Amino acid sequence: MKNILLIQTGGTIAMSAQGDGVELNPDAWSDTLVERVPQLGDLAQIQTMPLFFEDSSDLNHTHWIKLAECIFEHYDEFDGFVVLHGTDTMAYTTSALSYALQNLSKPVIFTGSQVPLSSIRSDARRNLINSIEMATSNLQEVAICFNDHVYRGNRATKLSIGDFDAFGSPNLDPLATIGLEIKSRYLTRLITDPFSIKADYSNELLVLTVFPSLSINHLMNLDVSKLRAIIVRSFGSGNIPTKGEYSLLKFLQRCTDEGVIVAVVSQADFDAVNLGKYSAGRAVANAGAISAGDMTLEAALTKMMWLMAQYEDKAIIEAEFQKNLAGELTV
Ligand code: ASP
Repeated sequence: MKNILLIQTGGTIAMSAQGDGVELNPDAWSDTLVERVPQLGDLAQIQTMPLFFEDSSDLNHTHWIKLAECIFEHYDEFDGFVVLHGTDTMAYTTSALSYALQNLSKPVIFTGSQVPLSSIRSDARRNLINSIEMATSNLQEVAICFNDHVYRGNRATKLSIGDFDAFGSPNLDPLATIGLEIKSRYLTRLITDPFSIKADYSNELLVLTVFPSLSINHLMNLDVSKLRAIIVRSFGSGNIPTKGEYSLLKFLQRCTDEGVIVAVVSQADFDAVNLGKYSAGRAVANAGAISAGDMTLEAALTKMMWLMAQYEDKAIIEAEFQKNLAGELTV
């Protein structure tokens, strides 16, 4: 039987009903998970590890680092890892870890639930059982297992607040679908280099959502001198307002002139940014911005944070950002 480390980080799965809402309750949560869901013991030898206990909206890169270090420390003892995590920022954590875990040859499966495990009509049991089973597979990456689908961690995004089917990976088919049988679509590779971690992130960046009527005055008053990058959430294939008083080009140009990297993602979930398509996109490229292709916001943001911690040089960061580093980008 395979050995799986089950790492607890919090989220709804670990919460209890509280009036009309739900609340984290560390005392009500014990490490007797396997007793609550006894079927888990038939799937694997499971050891639980309470790493932290948070609503995932309170997680940041310090938690990503702790998680990477925990997996690194226990890598040789276990065949696979399951991380219980809130759904709100799960795709940020899985994206961040996909860059940090180098030469990963074991499954790192993130899951959580929309309804606490302690509630009768919870999706937690199913997600947990599926995730433990996936953690015994030969998957070699960071993935999210939710509602009978397994998504690549750096391709996934939270799509629904209220549906059990909370996640999707718009630009990549699920890695596996779990029904009567598990239908897998992933390939395995021969990984000979030893597993290691590069878990550093810089938060010297901002995300800018473009919208009709956005005033450039607010942006021109922004002190960008402490920033190293801005991720622009553009319309469609990379377009922003470029005419008259609402043109944002002057702001983008100021950023790139001051050495700030400007990377463009789309507000649309499906397909890729193409700065060559419309004249607005071409103007964005002429201002020195780069395209994030078909990366999700979560994958692009955490990739930039990770790259800025690895490299000082702007040109190197821009070049690496446009490469596929961990399956996050179609090239
Ligand atoms: N707020 C919760 C969290 O992300 C939501 C969830 O787990 O579904 O921690």
